[in-house]
Amino acid sequence: MLTHIAGKTYCLATPAATIGVYLIDKHNCLLIDSGEAAHGQQVLDFLNEQGWRVSAIINTHAHADHCGANKLIAEATGADIYASAPEKIFLENPWLIPYTLFSAHPPRSLDNRFIVPPASPEVEAVSPGNCVMQGVSIQFFDLSGHTPGQIGVFTPDQVLFAGDSLLSSQAYHTFPCPVVADVKSQLTALETLAESRYDHLCISHGGWVDQPLAVIEQNREWLLGLINDVLGALQGQAMNREQLVSCIIEKRKLTVNTVQFYLAWSSVSAVISYLLDNRSIKTHFHPAGITYTAR
Ligand SMILES: [Zn+2]
Repeated sequence: MLTHIAGKTYCLATPAATIGVYLIDKHNCLLIDSGEAAHGQQVLDFLNEQGWRVSAIINTHAHADHCGANKLIAEATGADIYASAPEKIFLENPWLIPYTLFSAHPPRSLDNRFIVPPASPEVEAVSPGNCVMQGVSIQFFDLSGHTPGQIGVFTPDQVLFAGDSLLSSQAYHTFPCPVVADVKSQLTALETLAESRYDHLCISHGGWVDQPLAVIEQNREWLLGLINDVLGALQGQAMNREQLVSCIIEKRKLTVNTVQFYLAWSSVSAVISYLLDNRSIKTHFHPAGITYTAR
C-alpha cells in the first residue's frame, strides 16, 4: 500500500518492511530500502504500474528485510545503490552477516533468507551530511547502533526515514528485546532523533510515526531496561555470556528460533561490551572460560 507523506515523498508498505519512495520527476524515483527479496518483484510491478522507474536505492542498513530486493531491482532497472561505508561491506558480502553473528563460519541454519540477503551489485558509499543525488538534495543522518553504519535518510520534503533505529510498540511486543549492535551509538542515535528537526518520521516496521518524541523516549526506556536486566543478573553472581542470554530470554519470555536466539545473543553481547567499557561490570578469567559480575 502506498501512502503519501508530504510533497514528493511516499512510503510503500511491504509484508516485511516499509520502503520510502521519493519522486524525482514524473517517471523516476528514489527508493529508501528495497524490502525483502521475496517481495522485490511485487514492488517492481507496483512501481511499473505507476510509471515510476527506480533510479537509485538508498539503504538505511544491510539487514535482509531492507536490502534483499536490491539485486532484483538494480538488475531490472539499472538503479544505483547507496549506503554508508560499513553497510556497503555487508551489502556486497552478505555472507559476513551470519559469520559475525556466530563469530566463525556459521551453521547452515543461519544461512537463510531472514539473515542473508542476495549480494547487492556495487554499492556507492555515502557519509552523514548533505548530498545531491540524481539532482535531489538528500541529507544523511548517522543512526548507527542498530547496525554499525545505519543511516537515516532525510528528503527535501522534511521527511526522515529512520530505518530500524526505532521500534514500534507492536514490533517490540512481538519480540520484546531491542536488536542492537552498539549500545553507546544507539543511545546517541536516539538523542540525534530527539534533537533533529523534521516534519515527518517514518520507521521501517510501523511506517509513519504519530508522536516521534514519545516513541523515541519509549525506545530509550526499552534499551535501558535491557541494560538494567543484564546488570541486575550480575549482582552478586557471576555469569558467562551464554547464561546471560538464557537469563534474558527467560525473563522476557522470548520465543526464540535460531535466528531470534542469535539476535538476542548479539544484543546481550553489545550490552556486556557497553557495561565493561563504562566499568559497571568486570571480567573474571577462569581456566575454563570467562564470567562477568557487577562492580
Ligand atoms: Zn534491521
